[in-house]
Amino acid sequence: MRGTVQGVGFRPFVFRLAARHALTGWVLNGDDGVRIRVEGADSALEAFLADLRSDAPAASRIAAIDVAEGVPEGFAAFEIRASEHVGAPTTRISPDLPVCGACLRELFDPADRRHRYPYVNCTDCGPRFSIVHRLPYDRPRTTMAPWKMCEACAAEYEDPADRRFHAQPTACPACGPEYVLVAGADVAKGSDADRARGVAAIREAVRLLRDGAVIAVKGVGGYHLACDARNAAAVAALRERKFRKEKPFAVMASDVQGARRLVTLTAEAEAALTSSARPIVIAPAVLDLPGVSPDSRDIGVMLPYTPLHHLLFAEGAPVPLVMTSANRSNEPIAFEDDDALTGLAGIADAFLLGERPIARRLDDSIVRPGHDGPVVLRRSRGLAPALVAELPTRTPILAVGADLKNAVTLVVEGQAYAGPHVGDLEHYEALRAFRASIDDLLAMYEVSTDDLVVVHDLHPQYASTQVALSLPARAHVAVQHHRAHVASVLAERGALDTRVVGIAFDGTGYGDDGSIWGGEFFVGSVRESFERVASLRPAMLAGGDAAARHPLQAAAGFLFQLGPIELHAPPFAFPARYDDARQLVARGVRAFETTSAGRLFDCVAALLGFTRPIAFEGQAAMWVEHLARGATEAVDCPFGVEGRELDWRPALDAVIAARRRSADPGAIAAGVHRGLGSAVATMARALAAEHGLETIVLSGGVFQNALLVAEVRRSLGSGGLEIWINHQVPPNDGGVSLGQAALAALARL
Ligand code: ZN
Ligand code: ZN
Ligand code: FE
Repeated sequence: MRGTVQGVGFRPFVFRLAARHALTGWVLNGDDGVRIRVEGADSALEAFLADLRSDAPAASRIAAIDVAEGVPEGFAAFEIRASEHVGAPTTRISPDLPVCGACLRELFDPADRRHRYPYVNCTDCGPRFSIVHRLPYDRPRTTMAPWKMCEACAAEYEDPADRRFHAQPTACPACGPEYVLVAGADVAKGSDADRARGVAAIREAVRLLRDGAVIAVKGVGGYHLACDARNAAAVAALRERKFRKEKPFAVMASDVQGARRLVTLTAEAEAALTSSARPIVIAPAVLDLPGVSPDSRDIGVMLPYTPLHHLLFAEGAPVPLVMTSANRSNEPIAFEDDDALTGLAGIADAFLLGERPIARRLDDSIVRPGHDGPVVLRRSRGLAPALVAELPTRTPILAVGADLKNAVTLVVEGQAYAGPHVGDLEHYEALRAFRASIDDLLAMYEVSTDDLVVVHDLHPQYASTQVALSLPARAHVAVQHHRAHVASVLAERGALDTRVVGIAFDGTGYGDDGSIWGGEFFVGSVRESFERVASLRPAMLAGGDAAARHPLQAAAGFLFQLGPIELHAPPFAFPARYDDARQLVARGVRAFETTSAGRLFDCVAALLGFTRPIAFEGQAAMWVEHLARGATEAVDCPFGVEGRELDWRPALDAVIAARRRSADPGAIAAGVHRGLGSAVATMARALAAEHGLETIVLSGGVFQNALLVAEVRRSLGSGGLEIWINHQVPPNDGGVSLGQAALAALARL
C-alpha cells in the first residue's frame, strides 16, 4: 500500500482492524509503503480490505493498494513487525500534524500524567517531517532518539489498544524533553543556573509577553518571534529590531472565535484555518492592529497547533500574539538553538527553548481562500512534503525552481513531491538552506544521481541555476521561467495533454531572447510545450532586475514612451532617482527590454504615490491592489489589444490625467485592474478562438492579485472559456519547480 501511510498511525490502525476481523499475519513499514500480510476467512479478508479504505486514519492518504494472494503460513496472531529497508523508499512521510483533541484534554486534565506537558502527542497528532532524519519513520531515526521512554510511556507504546501504540515521538514529563526560558541577557553569559523549566518557563514567558517583551518561541519547524499584537510599542520594537519595516506579521488567535474577531472568516477560510496544516490564512481584517499589517486590508491569522501554543494562551498570553518567523530580514527561519540564541540576540528579550531538536526548518504555510478553492501561497509546515502531481516518467527528476520564494520538487517513480519553502536565495544562509533542502530530499528518497535529471531556470545568473549545474546528474535541463509557471497549473491538475492559452504575469523571468519577460501569452500543452504568441508591450527597464526594488526606476522606462510629462509638480513628486533612471533609458545605458507585468504595476504604484523603495518583493503591486479594493468606483483606464501586443500606454495616460484632476487614487487603481483584466480577457479570447482552445491558465506572482483574477474572470464572462489557476503549489515562484519538473518529464530526454 502506498500513499501518506507512515507516521499517521497506520500500522496500529491495521492492527486493530485485523483484530476486529479475527485475522492473523503482520504489518510493517517497508520502503515502498505499508506492507500487510493477513490470513483468515475469505469474507473476513474482504471486509478487512473494505474497512482499510473507508476507516483509514484521518491524516493518511492511500495512493494505491496492491493485493496479491499467497500460500497461508498459519500465523498464530497478528503483529506489527520492525520496519524493513530494501530498495528506494517512495513512501511519503506525513507532514507535521497539530495537537489532537484527545491530547489537548490530557494537557488540561490535572489528573493526567501529561498535565501541562508541552510535548504531548499520539499516533493521531504531533511532529513528523520536522523530526525525522531518515525513512522509514521510527524513533531511532528521529530527533527523539536521545530520550529513552520511561516504563509508563513504553507500556503505552507497546499496547495495541493504546492511542500511543507505536507513536514515535511519545514522551512524558518523566522521560521526555522540556521547555526552558533563557533571558536574552543570559545568552552571552552562557549560564543556565536559574533558567526556569517546564510550566515555570511558560509562565515566565507569558509574564514577559504581557509586559510587552519580544520572545523567541521554538515551534515545530523553527522559532517564532512573539509579542502582544495589540501592544503597538511592542510591535514597533519588533519591527525595529528585526529590520522588517513594512512586511506584514502573522498573528495567532487563541481559537476560532478569537480569529473571527480579527478577520472576516468565510466557511472556506475557516476550513483552511482549522485544517490539519494549520496554515496562516489571509483574510480581510475587521480589527485594526497598528503596525501588524501596514497598507493592507488583510491580516494573516493562524490557530495554535502545538501543545505549547495552547499552554501559552491558557496561562494568559496576550491575544492575539504576533507570531512571525524568527530571522533577520530575509534570512531563513532559525531552527537550531545555538543559531537562534546568537542570531536573535538583540531581537528577542528572552528565548523559550524547546529541548527536542528540529531536524529541518519549516516555515508556516500560507493559504488564501479563493473563488474556486484555497490557493496555497507558501507550502511548508503541515503541507510539505506532499505529493502534488503524478507525471508519466520513470526518470528521477530534481527541479530546483527559481531564486525567489524558492522551493524544490523531486519526482520519484512518477510522483512529484513538493519540498518545503526555502525562500529567497540572495543570502548565504538561504543558499545553504537551498542546498540542504536538495540533499535532504535526495537522501530521504534515496535517489541516485546516476540517472537523475536536474532541471533549472533558463536564467544563467540564478544561484539556483549555478547550484543545479554543479550537481552530478545524468542530464541538466533548462526550462524557461514563464512556461514553468503555466505548466505548474496543468501539472497539479494532471492535465498534461490539455492545450491551453497560458498567461504568465510576474515580476522577473529570463526570456528566450535574454530580455526580462513577465507579461507573456502562450499557446500549447505540457506535452508539446508552449509557444509564446503575445506579450505586454515592451518597455526599457533602467538597471535591469535591480529595478525591482524601486518602483520609480520601473516607471521611468514605461513613462518614457508617453513623451514628456511633468512629474515633479503636484500631484506627483518624483524625486531625482526618477530623472536618473530616465536618463539611462534615454541614452540606452544599463537599460534592458522588459515585458514584465510586475514592473507595470510598479509604474502604476509610483504614479499613485508609492515613490519609495519597496521593503519586500511585490509590495508596490500589493499596495495598488489594496488601494483598489477600498474603492467604490473605477476610473476608465483602457489598455489596447493590438495583434500580439497588450498596450499599456492608453491606460497610463488615463492614470496621469485622472491624477491631475484629483480623482480618488483608489478609483484609479480599481480602473487599472478593470482595464488590465478586460484586456487580458480580450487577448485570451482572441487566442482561444484562433487556436480552437477552451481553457485559459493564469499563473505567476502577479496573479496572486485576487482582484485582477476576478476582473479577468468577469470580463471573460460565461463565454464558455474556463479559467484555471494554481491551488496546490503557489502561483508565485514557489510553484516554478513543479512546472519545471512537468516540462522535463514530458520532454522525452
Ligand atoms: Zn494526539
Ligand atoms: Zn514517559
Ligand atoms: Fe515568476
